[in-house]
Amino acid sequence: MAAQILDGKALAAQIEAELAEQVAEFIENNAHEPVLAAVLVGEDPASAVYVKNKRLACERVGIDSRLYKLPESTDEEALLERIAELNSDEEVHGILVQLPLPAQIREQRILDAVHPFKDVDCFHPENVGRLVQGRPRYLPCTPHGCLQLLHRYGISVAGKHAVVVGRSEIVGKPVATLLAAKESPLGPDACNATVTLCHSRTRDLAAMCRQADILVAAIGRPKFITAEMVKPGAVVIDVGINRTDQGLVGDVDFAAVKEVASAITPVPRGVGPMTIAMLLVNTLAAASVDTM
Ligand code: NAP
Repeated sequence: MAAQILDGKALAAQIEAELAEQVAEFIENNAHEPVLAAVLVGEDPASAVYVKNKRLACERVGIDSRLYKLPESTDEEALLERIAELNSDEEVHGILVQLPLPAQIREQRILDAVHPFKDVDCFHPENVGRLVQGRPRYLPCTPHGCLQLLHRYGISVAGKHAVVVGRSEIVGKPVATLLAAKESPLGPDACNATVTLCHSRTRDLAAMCRQADILVAAIGRPKFITAEMVKPGAVVIDVGINRTDQGLVGDVDFAAVKEVASAITPVPRGVGPMTIAMLLVNTLAAASVDTM
C-alpha cells in the first residue's frame, strides 16, 4: 500500500491560520505588530525567492516584515553595523539573515552578532546551547517543521529508532537533538527517540537507514535515499531541496520510496512550507519575549 503523504503545505496553512489569530490578539494587547527584519545580501536568485516567500507568509498572518537589501560587495563590518542597528531597534523583534552570504563575509561572525532574543532562526550559540541543554528559547525552524509534521499527523517518535542522514548545524544536528530530547514543547511523544546520526563517513549507510522507524534525509543530493534503503513501514521525512533538470526534487527517491514507507513528505510541499511557518511562530514568540 502506498504511503500516507504528509502534506506540509496544507499543514503550514493550518498553522498560519492559527497564528493569524494569535498575532491579531498580540496586536490588540500591544498596539503594534510583531516585526521581522529580513537581511538579504547580494543577488543570489534562490535567496531572493526564499526571502520573498518568508515575507509573503509574514503578510498572511499579520507580521510586519522589513527588508534590508545590501549589495553583493558588502563587507563584514558594514553588515555587522546593520545587525547592531537592528539589535538596538526596539521596533524589531526578529532578525533573519538569509544564507548563504557572499564569500568575503564569515557567516559565523554575523550569526553570532544577532541578539539571542531576536535570533528567530535559532543559530546563535546561546540559543543552540539552550536547545542542547533541553531548555530552548526558540526551536530551529526546519527541525521544528519536521517535528510538527510528525506530531500533527499523530506519529509518535518516542522509543522509536530515528536515523538522521546529515549532520549540518542547520538541519541534521538539531533534528537529532530534538528527536533525542527527554522533553519537547510538543509533548513526550515528539521526542524520546533513539537516534543515529549519519554523515558522509558513515559505514554502510544503507544498512543504517534500513534500521530506521523514522528516517530523516538532510543531505543535499537528489533522490539519494532509494527504496532499498528504507524499512517497510518506516516514516520518511525528506528535508532536501535540489534544483535539477526535472525540477525541484528531494533527497529521497519519492516515487519508489512511497511504495515502501508508511508515511512520507513530498518535495515540494513538504518540509519547506513548514520551515517558513515555524519562522513565523518564532517571530511572534520573539515579540512576546518580555512575557517569556
Ligand atoms: P549541508 O550543510 O551540505 O550538509 C549535508 C550533510 O549531508 C552533511 O552532514 C554531509 O556529511 C551529509 N552527506 C553528504 N553526502 C553524503 C553521503 N554521500 N552520504 C552520507 N551523508 C552525506 O546541507 P544542509 O544545509 O543540512 O541541507 C541539506 C538539504 O536540505 C539541502 O538539500 C538543502 O537545500 C535542504 N534544506 C531544506 C530546508 C527546508 O526548509 N526544506 C532547509 C534547509 C536545508 P559530512 O558532514 O560528512 O560532510
